[in-house]
Amino acid sequence: MLNSQLLGELERIVGRDGLITSPEGRLTYECDMHTFYKGQPDAVVLPASREHVVEIVRACRQARVPIVPRGSGTGLIGGAMAPRGGVMVGMNRMNRILDVDLANRCATVEPGLINLWLSRAVAGRGWFFAPDPSSQMVSSIGGNVSTNAGGPHCLKYGITTNHVLGLEIVTGHGTLVTLGGKVWDRPGYDLVGTAVGAEGTFGLVTAVTVRLVHLPDAVKTVLALFSDIESASEAVSAIIADGIVPAALEMLDDVVIKAIEEGIGAGYPKDAGAVLLIELDGPRAEVEVQAERVAALCRARQALDVRVARDETERALLWKGRKEAAGAIGRVAPNFLLQDAVVPRSKLPDIMRAMRGISERHGVIFANVFHAGDGNLHPLICYDDQNPGELERAVAANEELLHACIALGGSVTGEHGVGVDKATKLPLQYGDADLNFMFRLRRVFDPDGVMNPGKILPSHPACGEGFRPERPALPAGTWV
Ligand SMILES: Cc1cc2nc3c(=O)[nH]c(=O)nc-3n(C[C@H](O)[C@H](O)[C@H](O)COP(=O)(O)OP(=O)(O)OC[C@H]3O[C@@H](n4cnc5c(N)ncnc54)[C@H](O)[C@@H]3O)c2cc1C
Repeated sequence: MLNSQLLGELERIVGRDGLITSPEGRLTYECDMHTFYKGQPDAVVLPASREHVVEIVRACRQARVPIVPRGSGTGLIGGAMAPRGGVMVGMNRMNRILDVDLANRCATVEPGLINLWLSRAVAGRGWFFAPDPSSQMVSSIGGNVSTNAGGPHCLKYGITTNHVLGLEIVTGHGTLVTLGGKVWDRPGYDLVGTAVGAEGTFGLVTAVTVRLVHLPDAVKTVLALFSDIESASEAVSAIIADGIVPAALEMLDDVVIKAIEEGIGAGYPKDAGAVLLIELDGPRAEVEVQAERVAALCRARQALDVRVARDETERALLWKGRKEAAGAIGRVAPNFLLQDAVVPRSKLPDIMRAMRGISERHGVIFANVFHAGDGNLHPLICYDDQNPGELERAVAANEELLHACIALGGSVTGEHGVGVDKATKLPLQYGDADLNFMFRLRRVFDPDGVMNPGKILPSHPACGEGFRPERPALPAGTWV
């Protein structure tokens, strides 16, 4: 519960229409797309300028009230939700493109700008913004920066951090700082690299300078059909080992293919056990040669068929199916847990075999749609929360899968970030000294611990003396 003085101050800063305090209004903000974790803010503010943001942070810091930044709320980690209440800062009103500077191959935007809107704005001049999370139709660039988002085309083009040149941040201290800029190599510490992926724990991003990339001359999208996911995984390794770096290399299994076809009808063959969606781009002659080579490699790995999208309409439809796959899974089960672990891509066949065993042991359905080229798995573990015991089985399967990924040399998170979902898992990968160091770094930006508390850093006994957990450890899912 916020005191009336702070509420009055917030209303003065953002105006009456920029402050949400009603129960039904706040309900909309109680979770991100990982709806398992819920926590309502006491108030939501919608700033329209960096000056608003500075004033909001200073007011909340003085009152020692938690601040939770929020972009579009499409995160999958329990990041943009308020486990301890406090003030949520929705950045959607700050959605302008401030500058397009093609001579320097960059643009500066406000954080609430939707990812796809930037590419649309510069496409006519032959440019695009490369990081393309599958949520790019709705997720914000500020959210992409804060989670260091990946996406299908990040295999070739790199993830968000590879495309951020400069940041403007209002730190948890209430100070407006500019990190980096249009020039690539700047003196001093690489604070841009440090702040990308900070998930709102350093402060609020109020402007981002991003690289723009020239649109390729030619694009070819190949669909390779396999009888099972293991042979599709073998083909992924073969393509990469051959020296080809496709722009995107995505895998979908039979459960997902069926759900997409019943929901959207994107042109995937319903009887395939798995498909690879392989996109090649670059100079036309190179793309032609690579497409033939990829087809040959897939056939050598028992592909049942290899097809090339005939035109832009067919290509767009295949991608629409891929990007809306998570929604289509609603046809399989009303609920799912989404894992985001990674394995070295050469271990894909092993993890797929392991997944089959886990699925059988726990009696749950895994639906696979993922960035296979990066070894970044996104199994959707399906369950129905109305059926007693199903959630528990899905949680146990999720946990076992995570450990299987680590055992194969992988990581607890690929691209979605940490949030509350993976916070307790970080000690699987980092030692006490590493976690303590991160904690101290966080405090440089946010001395009083008001910025997005409970996110990223674990409250875990293994974290060592120097690490001061912000609240006692809670089992996953109890941040309500
Ligand atoms: C269907 C679907 C597909 C997806 N596909 C992908 C994918 O391919 N790759 C991928 O990486 N992710 C994917 N995601 C996850 C999600 O879309 C990304 O993490 C995205 O970057 C989140 O952006 P957002 O604007 O929704 O941020 P939010 O969910 O609102 O916030 C995410 C985190 O960033 C912080 N934050 C937001 N804005 C700011 C700001 N201005 N300053 C400081 N902190 C801020 C929040 O506090 C929170 O911790 C997908 C999600 C869905 C639902």
